[in-house]
Amino acid sequence: MTGLGRWLAIAAVLASCWAPTEDPAHVPAPAQAPTPSREPATPTLAATRVRAEPRDAAAMVVPRASVTAQTRTRYAGSRSDDRVALSFDDGPTPQATRRVLQVLRLHDARATFFMLGEQVQRHPELAAEVARAGHELGNHGWSHRSWRSLFPSQLRAELDDTAAAIVAATGVQPRLARPPFGRFPASAEQLVHARGDDLVLWSVDSGDSAGADADTIAATVVERARAGDIVLLHDRDGRTVRALPAILAGLRRKQLRVVPVSELF
Ligand SMILES: [Zn+2]
Repeated sequence: MTGLGRWLAIAAVLASCWAPTEDPAHVPAPAQAPTPSREPATPTLAATRVRAEPRDAAAMVVPRASVTAQTRTRYAGSRSDDRVALSFDDGPTPQATRRVLQVLRLHDARATFFMLGEQVQRHPELAAEVARAGHELGNHGWSHRSWRSLFPSQLRAELDDTAAAIVAATGVQPRLARPPFGRFPASAEQLVHARGDDLVLWSVDSGDSAGADADTIAATVVERARAGDIVLLHDRDGRTVRALPAILAGLRRKQLRVVPVSELF
């Protein structure tokens, strides 16, 4: 009896030492029974890849979710500061991404890029350039199909495949996700949070996806942006690129600092 009890106690201590070494955001809330990680195989593989490439450490974004283990849905950040975030969706593209990087570098600004998996697969070198320049990477799904039209299993595959493509190209595990068109069912929000990611929308639409010209895009952003705003832009074509210098100059005039989305909170 005593011997068995002691053996069980030793086994319990050993089990408690068997702590996962993954990102704490992936660890499920404390539970009575040991449960397997909710993460599917792909992100685990991806996390291994991240650790295997220390040379990318300088470019890695440390997402807020990994620090607090609290995932949220964000439309804007703190209004009581001087920070604002520019976000670029649908890339990377040969038409715009490299030029966006050049303008951001000239203005010493960092931004957040919500990438499509299919674009990362086509242009992994551009995705890598974005990461190397110190910008933040986010997951925009694979195909830009509306998350409202996808079954949960399809959405999970889109997010997993996109995250895996981003990790393969850049060594960075994205911890932010943005739904195409800004529309999503409640089940998608739950899925994103369960993955340990923040769901990020926006509070200022530049209008660049609606066909506005460069001057109008710049005027819209500069006029509307205030502290805490997340600005929606796209690295898809030249209009946004041409608008960007005026946007950055205008935000500076308003004494707003441009930071990646995760630094707004
Ligand atoms: Zn999009």
